[in-house]
Amino acid sequence: MTPDRFDVVGLGENSVDYVYRLAGAVAPNEKLEAASHQLSCGGQVATTLAACAALGLRAGYIGTFGNDGNGLRIRDTLASVHVDTAHAIVRNAPNRHAVILVDERTGDRTVVWHRDPRLVLSASDIARDLVAGAKLLHVDDLDEDASVAAARIATEAGVIVTSDVDRLTRGARELIALSTVPILSTHVPSALTGEQDLERALRALRIRDTQWICVTLGADGAMLLEGDRLHHAPAFAVNAVDTTGAGDVFRAGFIHALLQSRSPADVLRFATAAAALSCTREGAIASVPTLSDVERALRAEL
Ligand code: ADP
Repeated sequence: MTPDRFDVVGLGENSVDYVYRLAGAVAPNEKLEAASHQLSCGGQVATTLAACAALGLRAGYIGTFGNDGNGLRIRDTLASVHVDTAHAIVRNAPNRHAVILVDERTGDRTVVWHRDPRLVLSASDIARDLVAGAKLLHVDDLDEDASVAAARIATEAGVIVTSDVDRLTRGARELIALSTVPILSTHVPSALTGEQDLERALRALRIRDTQWICVTLGADGAMLLEGDRLHHAPAFAVNAVDTTGAGDVFRAGFIHALLQSRSPADVLRFATAAAALSCTREGAIASVPTLSDVERALRAEL
């Protein structure tokens, strides 16, 4: 049954990834046997929503799927983790997919991806009622016009907006401005502002006095500028085996704690704990922790 009101609706990337682990790098014209392979369902917003659902939130995806086997696979996967896809759009095109080659010696990854242009979501595709009726909207920078349009609808309706800004696109600054809390990838603040010092870069990006801006820092944890106050949370110490999706799960942890009106320091702690747990398991959607996993990790740390 579709909930009348979602805690979080998301639009952005979903993907089916064919992951091959190799004993080395691939040289030109070389044939290499994969040491192991795995089919991994993910994509940044799909993974964030799966993690939100695992944390107990009512989550709905409003992006696009293809109508091929991969489209079906990712929809089934999202349904199995209780992400509502009834309002997503299915296009007559192959779903977004990628081949990921992992060099097991170094951990280096080569990603070859394809997204059919027919999957592009435009501003006119956004279901206003779904966005305005949610508690929180989460968007990425994949189809920027649609993300900006959805963020505008949300802002007008008083809905919280979080975003996953990973690229230096034309609309990155607008998306940051429209977000209640933009959550940026490590390289973004300095690249957008030219400020090498991260704190100064965050201050330069802050639009309103009250805005929170967050940046994830991989194994160094995360930083959050709350108004004028800077918070830093170190990464949770875990035995990391695969960091795929860590940033997406971080955002889900952040969203969960934000919706509970926790303090900025607690929001960061919850998000870093959730992200670290996802690093202890392989895959993207397959690695999301549950609420009790995160609560147990937080208790163990005290
Ligand atoms: P992305 O996956 O988007 O590149 P990051 O690499 O910055 O994002 O990771 C997101 C979050 O995941 C970090 O802020 C941190 O909390 C957590 N994280 C990443 N790598 C590790 C690690 N090796 N151990 C523990 N936590 C990690």
